[in-house]
Amino acid sequence: MKVDYIALSIPIFFILIAIELAYNFYKKFNFYRFNDSIANLSQGIGQQITGLFMKTALFFGYKYIFEHWRWLDLSDNIWVWIILFIAVDFFYYWFHRMSHQINALWAAHIVHHQSEEYNLTVALRQSWFQGWFSWVFYLPLAIVGFSPLMFLTLSSFNTLYQFWIHTRAIKSMGILEYILNTPAHHRVHHGSNPKYIDKNHAGTLIIWDRMFGTFQQEEEEVYYGITTPLASWNPVWANVHYWVELYNTAKNSDSFLDKIRVFIKPPGWYPEKLGGFKYAPEIDVSTYQKFDTQANVGMIFYVTVQFLVALGAGSALLFLYPKMTFITILVTATFVIFTLLSCGALLERKKWLRYFEYFRLAASISMLILFKDLAFFNTLLIAVITLQSISLIWFYFLQNTIIYVKEKLAV
Ligand SMILES: [Zn+2]
Ligand SMILES: [Zn+2]
Repeated sequence: MKVDYIALSIPIFFILIAIELAYNFYKKFNFYRFNDSIANLSQGIGQQITGLFMKTALFFGYKYIFEHWRWLDLSDNIWVWIILFIAVDFFYYWFHRMSHQINALWAAHIVHHQSEEYNLTVALRQSWFQGWFSWVFYLPLAIVGFSPLMFLTLSSFNTLYQFWIHTRAIKSMGILEYILNTPAHHRVHHGSNPKYIDKNHAGTLIIWDRMFGTFQQEEEEVYYGITTPLASWNPVWANVHYWVELYNTAKNSDSFLDKIRVFIKPPGWYPEKLGGFKYAPEIDVSTYQKFDTQANVGMIFYVTVQFLVALGAGSALLFLYPKMTFITILVTATFVIFTLLSCGALLERKKWLRYFEYFRLAASISMLILFKDLAFFNTLLIAVITLQSISLIWFYFLQNTIIYVKEKLAV
């Protein structure tokens, strides 16, 4: 049976985030910002939801090659597991390194690097589209003859391992720093300081970076993020902005070859006509500023409730989808993505949001009326709609009334 280790680990992720957050408050560190954390977690939910539509197909791809073209019949013993663990990590290193070297791959992977903070929520900040092609890099393992289930288990382990290293709370792991990918090594990987760019691509073992010349020790303070900041909390834009940028560069390039090169050259590459290669600028500490937006308590409350709505509906979808019809899956997934979109737009105080919120509430009520294939899911949906309505009334009605009354009283 196929086990989704990542989905099952979601509660553990949240427990560890809560511990790191508590530590952050206790030590008075500023490792967490509300808006940044919501944006990171939104990417995680969105990735799991969009992943539903491709996981089975991709697993089928690996399975097909294994069943029809494998060279060896490997037994299920400890040595095969150890070799496969190392092999998965090796292919991960190259896939990750290529994701930083080829524009079309970077367009997906960039999502993981957009946060200007570094905490456990960044680990869940994952691209919605990377999974569509990352599996191709592991196909040699299917040809050799490693079983699909073993591969799935170890690649999930590789992903899960990388969760805990997204922390600033652990300075050094001592002697383990030589072999394992650690928080210090991975902090470097998330740095936008020129000396840290394209370094430490490891998954579990740092030995690959040491062997292939991409290792960098953590030295100066790390400035997290990408060289051209995203400057938005919109989760959909985060996934498509670099594609748009590449498309525009290709459109403005003269020769056909340059139009192709835009997609396969490394980030920073531009045709001569458009100014040639643009190197990452040195961080100017005096002018460095993170993208930020202000929110009052009412807004934080409303975004939190909406985020919990997305998390609840998203989790229900993740665990119940095998029992749901395709159309219910599609509509619920759209509802979750729209809710995440709302959270981002709320944090940016977008003007169109008020109408969008009424539309979203109407959409969720019609979902309840239209889809009756799951009693449990519908109960959950009723809870979600109630929560959404109460918070909508609070946020848009009560808040505005309070402001109005206060203004009147002041006069
Ligand atoms: Zn990376
Ligand atoms: Zn990372």
